[in-house]
Amino acid sequence: MYKGQCLCGKVSINVKGPIDSIIHCHCSKCRKSSGTAYATNGFIQTADLEITSGEEQIAHFETSPGKRRHFCTVCASPVYSSNDLAPEQLRLRLGILDTDIVERPSSHIFVSSRANWDRFDESLSMYDGHEPGRNKAKV
Ligand SMILES: [Zn+2]
Ligand SMILES: [Zn+2]
Repeated sequence: MYKGQCLCGKVSINVKGPIDSIIHCHCSKCRKSSGTAYATNGFIQTADLEITSGEEQIAHFETSPGKRRHFCTVCASPVYSSNDLAPEQLRLRLGILDTDIVERPSSHIFVSSRANWDRFDESLSMYDGHEPGRNKAKV
């Protein structure tokens, strides 16, 4: 079972099944709702999502008819999205998870909509935390 919490901690979830079809989505809606280059999302079964606290804190924004992005109203963390055409599954926002998962992303999608500064440059330095030299007081 996977566990997750939103940024403020009011919304807590358990995911009681596997995560399927994990992708990095570069579409403009995912960029705007995440505030960054892309969102990493995967399908879960609706029956596998257990909201253990903060359900009343979750609101949604309907981006197109029947498609809703559900988020914490306190801290704005994305939690999942839903589609009325497929109520048996949800699209989990993987950033909410606190536990390691065994599944892995399979692809980048909507790369035609990607930000022009989003280059997947593997030659850039990679760090586990903030880059060295960053002034922590200005975070
Ligand atoms: Zn929150
Ligand atoms: Zn997207």
